[in-house]
Amino acid sequence: MSVSGSLDQQWARVRGRLRDEVGETAFGRWLKPLCVTELRGSELRIAVPTRFMRDWVLTHYADRIRALWVGENPHVQSVEIMVAPQRVEIGSSANDDDGLPPVPVPVESDSDPDRATPLALPERDDQFAHLDPRFTFENFVVGKPNELAHAAARRVAEASSVTFNPLFLYGGVGLGKTHLMHAVAWAIRKRDPNRRVLYLSAEKFMYQFIRALRFKDTMAFKEQFRSVDVLMIDDVQFISGKDSTQEEFFHTFNALVDQNRQVVISADKSPSDLEGMEERLRSRLGWGLVADIHPTTYELRLGILQAKAEGMRAQMPAKVLEFLAHKITSNVRELEGALNRIVAHSELVGRAITLESTQEVLHDLLRANDRRVTIDEIQKRVAEHYNIRLSDMSSARRARAVARPRQVAMYLAKQLTQRSLPEIGRKFGGRDHTTVMHAVRKVEELVSTDASFSEDVELLRRMLEG
Ligand code: ADP
Ligand code: MG
Repeated sequence: MSVSGSLDQQWARVRGRLRDEVGETAFGRWLKPLCVTELRGSELRIAVPTRFMRDWVLTHYADRIRALWVGENPHVQSVEIMVAPQRVEIGSSANDDDGLPPVPVPVESDSDPDRATPLALPERDDQFAHLDPRFTFENFVVGKPNELAHAAARRVAEASSVTFNPLFLYGGVGLGKTHLMHAVAWAIRKRDPNRRVLYLSAEKFMYQFIRALRFKDTMAFKEQFRSVDVLMIDDVQFISGKDSTQEEFFHTFNALVDQNRQVVISADKSPSDLEGMEERLRSRLGWGLVADIHPTTYELRLGILQAKAEGMRAQMPAKVLEFLAHKITSNVRELEGALNRIVAHSELVGRAITLESTQEVLHDLLRANDRRVTIDEIQKRVAEHYNIRLSDMSSARRARAVARPRQVAMYLAKQLTQRSLPEIGRKFGGRDHTTVMHAVRKVEELVSTDASFSEDVELLRRMLEG
């Protein structure tokens, strides 16, 4: 058995556990870049790319990492975390899939996070162990796109009685839903440490439920929610389609609301748009307050960058921050990633951050963001080009003069954006995805048979990309 091979496998399992415990966001930021270098005697060495990260990992995760390792490999007695920049590629986005959730290990050792009573409500302090300490209201920058969601979250955190139930937060990926939920939990803990707050990702909810079924212990599963004052389930879209879990979720949810306990839910879509979710659950989820988080604006992005740069105590020229706010428009997570990369790079090479170094370090990211065109832009351009009304992009009119341009716009939306067929259909007046598919095929066919039509489409494409 090769030592490094087996170390790798052990590390993969430890990583799986860590990810499950701390959540995707914290894992991605702090733990994913860790790299096991060697086992020397009883000391396991782990490399991190920067000093900043080492300190963070040491204060927040070192004990847990050690405990998991000891459980995994009895030879390991201590874990040393070192800065070793040359071993880690900065900004590497290598995909690892050590899979979620981890396979439960039937033998419960001391270091098993679930111990012998996997379904018990975590101890009071543990309730917060999985929450990211930086996801607080203090660290949340408020702007137009998130002001409603933020105000609602604050209200839930500060109210002593239940105001709206549930609070349903939704928005695209990386726009701050998880951050707000953790912030609610932290604020409640500060205000009233006796209130029981339970935050779970929907995946974790499912995982625990399935586990309860396997251990024939669904009573304990239900029991754990009884004493909760505030239940938060993140990314509830992952529950859709899983019938028994949905059913269970629905009951849990109803029971808590009936007992006047606060429930907070997040998802990537509004309740009514949650596909694969039972109608009664969808409508039930929309009963309280539904608050959406819109895509970021330039002002918000700049504000967030300023706050983060200050928090990292990094010397960032204003020009660089403005440049980033202009260029990286997708979501806050990507924005943060960019900032981290620039700071890490400057720390490594020991040079100040400049506009030039920024462009160099981020060239791949910038290129990806450059090409981002929205469906709104496509509709607008195409409508102008064919001289039809913008509203006809989503109208029911079927006359060729409007139907053809509409098909062209759908085709371009498919070609130039990352949107799925159903998403595109929705943007075009709630059309079915098969309609979009038909449009795409039709335009493809015309492009190959009709030269002037093809030129038109090509021109539009270049305009939109340019
Ligand atoms: P979501 O759960 O919506 O996918 P997250 O809450 O995980 O997004 O946010 C992604 C990252 O962006 C987190 O690191 C979070 O702290 C940060 N973030 C998002 N919105 C804001 C904001 N308004 N102010 C500060 N940080 C933000
Ligand atoms: Mg999230």
